[in-house]
Amino acid sequence: MEFVYRRTYRGPLKAILLDWAGTTMDYGCYAPAVVFQAVYANKNVPISIEEARLPMGAHKKVHIRKISQIEAVRDRWQEVHGRYPNESDVEAMFAEFIPRQLEVLADYADLIPGTTDAVAEFRKMGLKIGSTTGYMLAMMDILKAEAAKRGYEPDNSVCAEEVATGRPDPWMCVKNVMDMGIYPFEACVKVDDTLPGIDEGLNANMWTIGLAKTGNEIGLNEAEINALDADVLQRRLNGAYDRMAKAGAHYVVDGIWDVPAVLEDINRRLARGERP
Ligand SMILES: [Mg+2]
Repeated sequence: MEFVYRRTYRGPLKAILLDWAGTTMDYGCYAPAVVFQAVYANKNVPISIEEARLPMGAHKKVHIRKISQIEAVRDRWQEVHGRYPNESDVEAMFAEFIPRQLEVLADYADLIPGTTDAVAEFRKMGLKIGSTTGYMLAMMDILKAEAAKRGYEPDNSVCAEEVATGRPDPWMCVKNVMDMGIYPFEACVKVDDTLPGIDEGLNANMWTIGLAKTGNEIGLNEAEINALDADVLQRRLNGAYDRMAKAGAHYVVDGIWDVPAVLEDINRRLARGERP
């Protein structure tokens, strides 16, 4: 055959997969960060909030392990314990992390402004709403109940512990679309506030949107953001936009309130036969 013919999806978006902390709730993504700090402090190796945030988006045990691999943390650990942190330290801190995280989750469950309006727009567009998270199932039980009280109820939710590996691998996205019966993957969009979350969407061959202002990349809640000088905020936003764009996000916007307009643009691109 002299020609090959390529099949192209030209229909609209069918599903949106939303992250939780820093995307739809917990402005600034504080709940996990403060607990990571607490479990390291309990080992007499205090870590900065920046160190606590560095691996954000990963499965929480992976996250604890990645903090233990930060050079400066390893060095401080060795000063205190006479050796570098090992896997049994990671296991011990993860065991301690779970009840501590469960205890404080509800304190950080307020929705990010604009979430319910954006979700209403997604519904109007006929989208199914899935979600992915590095939180454990028991944590999601709390967060889903808190979110429902505040008017947000996604159709589906997948935790890292339900799949072989969490972010940056694509399996939570894949399980979501399987659960919801959605294909092809180019009819789906992934929204996240972390770099591993952007990787997750890209690895699933989905359209991927980074949220620069409301999550881990700036790491401040709404009141703290509003208290920043305009030029400081702009500089930090520029950094977050830059990192997310370089991670390969198809779009980077401030927060979930900006997402409906992006979806309209993606629908125009799909109609032209473009792929993520
Ligand atoms: Mg997040």
